[in-house]
Amino acid sequence: MLIIDCPHCGPREEAEFACGGEAHIARPLAENNITDAEFADYLFLRDNPKGLFLERWRHTAGCRRWFNVARDTVTHEIVEIYPMGALPKSKPAASAFKKSWRRQSPAEKAASPKTTSAKTGSAKASASKGRIR
Ligand code: ZN
Repeated sequence: MLIIDCPHCGPREEAEFACGGEAHIARPLAENNITDAEFADYLFLRDNPKGLFLERWRHTAGCRRWFNVARDTVTHEIVEIYPMGALPKSKPAASAFKKSWRRQSPAEKAASPKTTSAKTGSAKASASKGRIR
């Protein structure tokens, strides 16, 4: 059994927690500007690596808060626990974050505010063209 160190409550047994799957999956902000296949990648495809994996966990029988865990799927060693919305700081976990195929996916790019503002601008332009007609 894993002992997970909840950042709010301290170390507790795994039975008090629920795993929420892969961490760092950002919903595309401009989902109408990506294809159905690209949106399906965001919605359904999840990594299942042999090695370090970045996961979301929730302390369901405790504080009920979410946090991220960098855990080795082979040894179950927990490399790092860090807050939601933050990126991993330890070298192996940060490397796992950067190596993920998801960082290069169209859905991930559509989740970026920079990409969204650029696409929103073009969407407004096409919308105004629609009004002229
Ligand atoms: Zn807790």
